[in-house]
Amino acid sequence: MFKSAYLERVFNDVLKKDFGQPEFIQAVETFFLSMDDIISQTPQIEKYGIIERLVEPERFIHFRVTWVDDQGIARVNRGYRVQFSSVLGPYKGGIRFHPTVNASTMKFLGFEQTFKNALTGLPMGGGKGGSDFSSIGKSDGEIMRFCQNYMLELYRHIGADTDVPAGDIGVGNKEIGYLFGMYKKIRNEHTGVMTGKGLSYGGSLVRKEATGYGLCYFVAEMLKVYKSDRFDDKKVIVSGSGKVGLYAAIKAHDLGAKVVAMSDINGYIYDPNGLDMNLVTEITNNGELTLKYAEKTGCIHGKTPKDMWKVPTDIALPCAIQNELDLESAEHLVNNGCFLVAEGANMPCTLEAERYFIDHQILFAPGKAANAGGVAVSLFEMSQNAMHYPWPYDEVDDKLKGIMKEIFMKCYTAARKYKNPYDLISGANIAAFMRVYEAMMEQGIQ
Ligand code: GLU
Repeated sequence: MFKSAYLERVFNDVLKKDFGQPEFIQAVETFFLSMDDIISQTPQIEKYGIIERLVEPERFIHFRVTWVDDQGIARVNRGYRVQFSSVLGPYKGGIRFHPTVNASTMKFLGFEQTFKNALTGLPMGGGKGGSDFSSIGKSDGEIMRFCQNYMLELYRHIGADTDVPAGDIGVGNKEIGYLFGMYKKIRNEHTGVMTGKGLSYGGSLVRKEATGYGLCYFVAEMLKVYKSDRFDDKKVIVSGSGKVGLYAAIKAHDLGAKVVAMSDINGYIYDPNGLDMNLVTEITNNGELTLKYAEKTGCIHGKTPKDMWKVPTDIALPCAIQNELDLESAEHLVNNGCFLVAEGANMPCTLEAERYFIDHQILFAPGKAANAGGVAVSLFEMSQNAMHYPWPYDEVDDKLKGIMKEIFMKCYTAARKYKNPYDLISGANIAAFMRVYEAMMEQGIQ
């Protein structure tokens, strides 16, 4: 499959050792496909075992989380933290509470995070954590007891200079508060050990908007550089109405786009004249979007979220979850006029969908570049915590804009140098790899 015999050997090893971990294998495969030429030209990479080391997490922690539900019954979930790479800084990455969390999803997310964090240019290694616990249908007390018990194990593995978790799917303000509260109580220290904290106890302005806003800043650069264009009057569709999707939709709208469709687990809403973003915000902040929005406005409500990809649009922003957008959906998008796809979620497009976009000259931004705004502002939160001094809104937002522009430029420059100017998948992988590779070489074999 790969031109480089070295990559072929490492990939076969991954296939053997990580059998049964399809998401992780997918993330490795898309990365390797970008690296083929560089690796063949740089024998050092094989000599120093760089790729073998990159596909093996430095540490994989798997633990039991026992908690008591409202009926007084003991419940058991699986907890994880994968500390993938510390070569660029303390491990950094979110915690995901979702039924799909397992060793494979944790490893793919940790692997992706390492390169995403490298692209920000900031001093962060890559990590990820989570549990197969879901907050949906749980009482506040149950969520609190679960978070506290999760932290009762996690605390011994993390620290402000060791590993700094944040939120992800299913882990929002409430969960971060309970997790942080427990850490603080056990360690008796109020440090920047977690990011995404509430503003009243050390959080950063713009953190909750950062991934969605950053995604739009990245897309704005793509429109400018590739098409001398802007968001104005472009039709945009957004999947997932969590924080990422919501703030991506809001920012796209603020930049002049017409957000015509959004989706959540109950389906999608579609209004060819553009959704009312004030109403979207109000409803999303209080619960599930599509059912309530359709009820209030009478707009089209499709029952299957995936069908949203059939809606005519210029720009598609998948912001829900891994592999939500497959080849069939990619074909619908392209046949209906979509010319730009940017990933707000981590790996929301399948490998086939990704290839289809590239082969059809669709402008495509991979998540590890386009959704790096969230983790970038997390690092700003760490900086503010270390200084014991919060920054104003505009300062954080301006820095976020600057970082997203720089990330785009790094990916674009690497794509032009090593592949073609439109291949931002390779551009992102190569630019990120170069930084990680250099740091690994300087730190010796370990
Ligand atoms: N969960 C987010 C991501 O996938 C943010 C991680 C962080 O802020 O550490 O990048």
